[in-house]
Amino acid sequence: MPHTNNRILATASPVDLLDLRPRLRIVELQQGQVVAESRQQVSKVYFPHSGILSCVVELRDGGAIETGMIGNDGEFGAAQALNNKVSLHTVTVQVPGPASVVDADHVKAVAQSSPEFLSLLMKYEQFFLGQVQQTTACNAVHSVERRMCKWLVRMHDLAGSELPLTQEFLAQMMGVRRTSVTEVATQLQNKGLISYRRGKVKILSIDLDQYHACECHQAVRDLYAEEFLNTDGPKSPPDPGRPRTL
Ligand SMILES: [Zn+2]
Repeated sequence: MPHTNNRILATASPVDLLDLRPRLRIVELQQGQVVAESRQQVSKVYFPHSGILSCVVELRDGGAIETGMIGNDGEFGAAQALNNKVSLHTVTVQVPGPASVVDADHVKAVAQSSPEFLSLLMKYEQFFLGQVQQTTACNAVHSVERRMCKWLVRMHDLAGSELPLTQEFLAQMMGVRRTSVTEVATQLQNKGLISYRRGKVKILSIDLDQYHACECHQAVRDLYAEEFLNTDGPKSPPDPGRPRTL
């Protein structure tokens, strides 16, 4: 399984990848696995291939809300590795799948010897910060239905059309009641946009993206294009490495 299934590693120069490769290994991330605890030192950097990592802010009352999603378009842990810093949030595996993983110290060493690799990591951090800011605005302003559609479309971009998600998990990630998620899921299913069966959501129609998701998903796609595709022309979504089959 090539490490270049991850777009950050695919974008790294051959020399940088050669430096990383001896310490890179492939792991299978399991759904619900915690890869970083809030306020704890980050010791590994993860580059997902097909699964999704979720950055979650936990609240004192037991609630939690997702502020960022990391798929094969990104990585978790590099920014913290560069400065021997702690994670600012809990990071859990939302969708299982393989990932390349490497010791944080090694990422730091390669970045210190390669301005190009450092720049690549910083580009992703800039994108991730933009994603978090967009999510903050989205959570404050947009309806549960439009947020849920945005969320599903973003997941589709990163992990395909069949998603292993319970309504309880969806509600927790969105910081809403499960009954709200059930209501919206039923509406979307009745409109033929998704099918939902115990613990699995299948996205059926591109209308979910075009007419039902809020603007925030396209804004996040545009941010990624600005950082990585470096084009002045029409904005394109990140290529998740698989056909777009909504
Ligand atoms: Zn939104």
